[in-house]
Amino acid sequence: VWSARVSRSFSHLNTVTEQDLAYFSKVLPPSNILSTLPPTCTPHDDMTPYNVDWMGKYHGKANTVLRPRTTHEVSEIVKYCASRRIGIVPQGGNTGLVGGSISLHKEVVLNLGAMSNVRSFDPVSGILVADAGCILQSLSDHIAPDNHIMPLDLGAKGSCQIGGNISTNAGGLRLLRYGSLHGSVLGLEVVLPDGTILDQLSTLRKDNTGYDLKQLFIGAEGTLGIVTGVSILTPPAPQATNNVFLALPHFDNVLPLYQTVKRQLGEIMSAFEYIDRTAYDMALSHGLGPVLDAKEVGDARCFVLIETSGSNEDHDMEKLNVLLESLMTADEPLILTGTLSQSPGQFESLWAVREGLPECVQKEGKPYKYDVSVPLADFQKVVDSVLGRMISMGLHGDHAVSKVVGFGHIGDGNLHLNVIAKRGYSPEIEAALEPFIYELVASRRGSVSAEHGIGSMKTHALHYSKDSVSIEWMRKIKQVFDPLNIMNPGKVLP
Ligand code: FAD
Repeated sequence: VWSARVSRSFSHLNTVTEQDLAYFSKVLPPSNILSTLPPTCTPHDDMTPYNVDWMGKYHGKANTVLRPRTTHEVSEIVKYCASRRIGIVPQGGNTGLVGGSISLHKEVVLNLGAMSNVRSFDPVSGILVADAGCILQSLSDHIAPDNHIMPLDLGAKGSCQIGGNISTNAGGLRLLRYGSLHGSVLGLEVVLPDGTILDQLSTLRKDNTGYDLKQLFIGAEGTLGIVTGVSILTPPAPQATNNVFLALPHFDNVLPLYQTVKRQLGEIMSAFEYIDRTAYDMALSHGLGPVLDAKEVGDARCFVLIETSGSNEDHDMEKLNVLLESLMTADEPLILTGTLSQSPGQFESLWAVREGLPECVQKEGKPYKYDVSVPLADFQKVVDSVLGRMISMGLHGDHAVSKVVGFGHIGDGNLHLNVIAKRGYSPEIEAALEPFIYELVASRRGSVSAEHGIGSMKTHALHYSKDSVSIEWMRKIKQVFDPLNIMNPGKVLP
C-alpha cells in the first residue's frame, strides 16, 4: 500500500550514472562513496544499512550513498546534483520511524555520519557547536565531564545524529523539562538545495533581527536543505536524579495522579511517562524488569514512571517520600504499589523498562507505529478503540495483529500507539488501521504526528492535522527554497 502511494512521478529527476560517480569521486575519497554502479560496485548487503530503515519497514532504492566530511563537500555535491537534477535524501542515523531517510526513487543518499566533530563547547554558557553527524550519545559523553547534559534524550541516542534530531524536531524523554528543540537550538548551518551555505550558526541567546530562518529547518525532515552544523544550548546536569515506578488500578487514575505529582514535586519533576498493561507485560517477557512485586501489581491496568531532577538530593528525596506516602495512605489510593529507586543501577533499570519498549515491539513482530498527540484523557480510549476494531474485523490474534500497546509521554500529551503484526505487514491490516486512526485522532483535535514527523509514511494524512491554508503555505515555502524539488522529494508534503 505504501509503495503504491509513494510511486508518484519522479520524472523531473535524473538518477545517478557512472559519469556522476566520476564527479563525486573528485569531491570524496573512494572510502566515502558506496555505489552499486561500476567502477565502485559496492555489494548490495553493504548498501542495506542505508537503504533499509530501523524497523525494516521501508526499503529504499538508492544505488549511491555519499558520506561527505565537510560542509564544503556537502555544498559541492548539492551544487552538482542541482545542476544534474539528481534527487538527494539527507540521512543521519537512519533511526527515523516514518520512512523519511530512505530513497524512494534512486535519489542519492547523503549520509552525514562522516561529519562528527565537536566544533566547540563553552562550559560556562553551556553552548555546544557540533557537526550535524555527531551521534547524540557521543555529544552527551563529550559534555558530561563539564557537568552538562543534552536537552533531549531518546531511546535511539546510540545511533541517531544531532542533525537528524533537529530535522525531525525530536521530542523524547526530556521535553517536559527542557522544552523543544525550537527553544534550545540557537543556530544552524545549512546547505540549501542550490548548494549555497546558509550560515546561521549563532551562539546568541537573543537575536531579534528579523525572520528566524533556522526555525524552518527544525522539523523540515530534510526537505528544505541539509543541516551541517548545530549550535545548541545544553543545561547543567542535575545534581540529583531519582525515579519512581508506580502501578495504577485503572487509567482513570492517571490524570488525578499527574495533577497531584505536578503539585507536590513542582519544579523537580522532569518526566512523567505512561506504560499500559500490555506494554508492561511485553517488557517483562523480553527480560526487562520486573521492577515491581508481581503480587502487589495484581491486575493493575497501567503504570507510570516519574523522574525528578533537582539540585539537592535530600530535598528531592524528602519530596518524593512525602509524595509516595500520601499516595499510598490516601482514603482512595491512586496507586496499587510503587518503587523508588535506591541506587544508580536501579534508576537505570526503571528507565530500561520504558526506554526498552520500542525494541521489545520490534522483537514481537512488524509494528505499525502511530505517534499521536491526543488529550490526556483519551490516551487509553484510543488504544482500546483500535484494539476493538482489530477484534471486530477478525484481525486480532497471532495470524494478524498480536498486540496493541500504548505508552508515551503523558507530560507532553504524546501517545505511542503500536499495533504489532506478528506475521508481517499486510495491506489488509493497514487498510483496517488507516484512515481509522487518523480520523480518530482528528476527531479529538489531536496531531497525527506528535514527534516522529511525516516522512513518506504520513504525507497522505497531513490534512488531518493541517488545514488547506497551512499546507498551501508549506508548499510555497518548499518552492522558495527548493524550486527544483530535489531535496528529499516525496516526503512531508502530499
Ligand atoms: P534519520 O532517521 O537518518 O532521518 C530522519 C529525517 O531527518 C529524514 O527525513 C532525513 O532526511 C532527515 N535528516 C537526517 N539528517 C539530516 C540532516 N543533517 N539535514 C537535513 N535532514 C536530515 N523520536 C522522538 O522524537 N522521540 C523519541 O523518544 C524517539 N525515540 C525513538 C526510539 C527508538 C528506539 C527509535 C529507533 C527512534 C526513536 N525516535 C524518537 C525517532 C526519531 O525521529 C529519531 O530517532 C531521530 O530523531 C532521527 O535521527 P536520525 O539521525 O536517525 O535521522
